[in-house]
Amino acid sequence: MARFTQADLVELNKAFEDRSPADLLRWTKDIFGKRVAALTAMQKAGSVICHMISSMKINMNVLFVDTGVNFPETLETQHRLAQAYGLKIMTLHPEKTMEQQTREYGVLYLTPEGQKHCCEMRKTEPLLATRGDYDCLIGSLRRAEGGARGGCPILSVDPSMNCVRINPLANFSDEHMENYIAEHSVIINPLHSQGFSTISCNRCTTPVLPNEPKRAGRWRHLGPWSVYCGINPTDLGGGTSLAIDLPQELIDRLLGRTTDFSI
Ligand code: SF4
Repeated sequence: MARFTQADLVELNKAFEDRSPADLLRWTKDIFGKRVAALTAMQKAGSVICHMISSMKINMNVLFVDTGVNFPETLETQHRLAQAYGLKIMTLHPEKTMEQQTREYGVLYLTPEGQKHCCEMRKTEPLLATRGDYDCLIGSLRRAEGGARGGCPILSVDPSMNCVRINPLANFSDEHMENYIAEHSVIINPLHSQGFSTISCNRCTTPVLPNEPKRAGRWRHLGPWSVYCGINPTDLGGGTSLAIDLPQELIDRLLGRTTDFSI
């Protein structure tokens, strides 16, 4: 194993700025082979990634964290995507049901500190249970979402999962996404047409008004200090010193040192 840092990705990130999401998905599969999966919360951008994976016939697992308190529409979307696109969706579960958690800790999501603990137990820890299974996770963050995602890198390192994260839609504008969805009749979560600009657990997500920020419906009851759950590490900042450990051979391939993976 060798150390691999965010700084090692600077040149590759620059080179990838002009690549299409399809190019980036193909590159990811070519480099990471079986050790890559897509992570989606069954929101609009995740549906676009699922459609691209399916239409490009890329064989990979899709991971979905079912917190146990998702909206029925979200679970229905998961089922529809799996059926229509022939996807292998692996559902990850928290250790405790919401009832067990509430008996033990009380209603956590009502305070900022409790929310962090609840999101750790119900979102982050189920994903962490897969640590070691994948060298790369594909996400669906877009810079057009604004906030902490306004400058999200295409490639980043995730020390918690010890893997590379790639967001092929980082440069996908709202217009790009809506056009792609319309052109391909992509299956999307019906909550989006009910005013939900982003979607998470039913306890902590509300629709937003047309003049509100896109993420105003997340943890509305807590105010502006709790705007990200932490399952996507670039939301929480980081920097060029973040590091993971990967096989040297994989690092060489990733950086194009030994293999011609021109795309
Ligand atoms: S979004 Fe709310 S209910 Fe869901 S894990 Fe986070 S705090 Fe808990």
